[in-house]
Amino acid sequence: METILKERSNNSCELCKALDNLQVYGVPPKEGTSAEECAYLCTTCIEQIEDPEKTNENHWRILGDTMWSEFPAVQVLAYRMLNRLKEKGWPMNLLDMLYLDDDTKAWADSLEQTGNALVHKDSNGNVLQDGDTVTLIKDLNVKGAGFTAKRGTAVRNIRLDKDNAEHIEGKVDGQHIVILTKFVKKN
Ligand SMILES: [Zn+2]
Repeated sequence: METILKERSNNSCELCKALDNLQVYGVPPKEGTSAEECAYLCTTCIEQIEDPEKTNENHWRILGDTMWSEFPAVQVLAYRMLNRLKEKGWPMNLLDMLYLDDDTKAWADSLEQTGNALVHKDSNGNVLQDGDTVTLIKDLNVKGAGFTAKRGTAVRNIRLDKDNAEHIEGKVDGQHIVILTKFVKKN
């Protein structure tokens, strides 16, 4: 299997193109029993994938290039890392462009269903749900979008960030943005 992966990756990390310290990585929750379920990755990528605390934003900018891989295992990892980093702004633009077919999307999202469900709470400690409406309790500078979301703005139909209990997403002024839960209150 390593031979297949070496060949398809040109002997480089399928996420960051590094040439050293490469190994076969089974993409969870699949068991990695075939090349389709694996990616060929460097240890730096693997370490950051497995430990969100070690995630270095700049290491992943190259996903703008490598997310176009034709291999689902690589697409799944790119999608997950872009989601993890999306409050930085630039990954959100890439996610808008990244198309996953239904099976691949289900694979990419499948960890969340098996993982611990995060509880999102507003500034008053009220539990938030997908679809709630919240109000901003302070002016927020929106990174990358170049505008300020004003205090008192209602944000309808929010989505909870499945990876981060402090983040929700919603539309303000027609723009899809990430908002910190401590700056909102539930209506
Ligand atoms: Zn790498």
